[in-house]
Amino acid sequence: MEHLKQLIRDIPDFPIPGIIFKDITTLLKEADAFVEVVDRMAAEYADQAVDVVVAIESRGFIFGAPLAYKLNASFVPVRKFGKLPAQTVTKEYALEYGTSTLEMHVDAIQEGQRVLIVDDLLATGGTARATAELVESVGGHVVGLAFVVELCFLSGREKLSGYPVFSLIKYE
Ligand code: AMP
Repeated sequence: MEHLKQLIRDIPDFPIPGIIFKDITTLLKEADAFVEVVDRMAAEYADQAVDVVVAIESRGFIFGAPLAYKLNASFVPVRKFGKLPAQTVTKEYALEYGTSTLEMHVDAIQEGQRVLIVDDLLATGGTARATAELVESVGGHVVGLAFVVELCFLSGREKLSGYPVFSLIKYE
């Protein structure tokens, strides 16, 4: 995945000092690379009978929506607090930088549906863990969590132990 990795831009000290932000917009503007990322993620789950792709605001939407389309699955957005209009379930969580609250519509997933969670990047795993808990709180079954980028040195996988985790581009 070295050719894809080269398309991701490091932005030091964004959004706060000490964080090296992985900027995926430089990958997205290369049409072939965007297609390859979505195709590779879809291939990983092609035989997993995914019913629902749950994607995390906001960069998760960029990859989650075409993945849902390719897997012929529903698309469900998980959003930051206060954005969703109908009744929600909520979960507070810790970020690599700060804390936040995620929300999902309470009727977004049916009991027993097979759910794939998608985000652009796995850092400490707090965001993904909170999302898995939201999905399970309404009866969804998490079949996997998929990320374009994984910051392995932050050990996000440990926070997601028990769940199958897939990532395309790894930083050790
Ligand atoms: P975490 O909960 O620590 O796994 O953080 C993951 C979420 O924060 C994802 O939605 C990422 O988009 C974002 N994020 C965290 N760290 C970074 C980073 N270094 N570069 C880009 N996005 C990040």
